[in-house]
Amino acid sequence: MSNAKPLHEGLFSWPADTPSLIGTRCLDCGEHAFPSQSACRACSGQNMAPADLGSEGTLWTWTIQSFMPKTPYRTDETPETFTPYGVGYIELACGLKVESRLRENTPEQLTIGMPMKMEMITVRKDEEGTDLLTFQFCAAEEQH
Ligand SMILES: [Zn+2]
Repeated sequence: MSNAKPLHEGLFSWPADTPSLIGTRCLDCGEHAFPSQSACRACSGQNMAPADLGSEGTLWTWTIQSFMPKTPYRTDETPETFTPYGVGYIELACGLKVESRLRENTPEQLTIGMPMKMEMITVRKDEEGTDLLTFQFCAAEEQH
């Protein structure tokens, strides 16, 4: 994926073989945040340090997005070509819960507490044909 770049800067490490989520950690109270925050929501401290939040977690809760969202959702899809996708909260090792798009898009594929891992997906191409990437989570173990 050399001809690719993040849709939004600063959410995950890039380029990287195994990108991980980038957030912040409060040096005063230890609270994590994602996306990165300049002040701590727990103690209002401003001693925030960048934190590698990893690329794995467990599924905390989920739903299925079965129709095309309104703006600012922007892909090359149309309501006719739209593919449903899952939306969920992933509980990371640090305890933080992060909202994420999910690869799985049927209730049969999703169970609360299942191990999840992050992967990169192309949202759309920009004017130069560069893939614009974002992250989503998918089942960490192949399902049969
Ligand atoms: Zn704090």
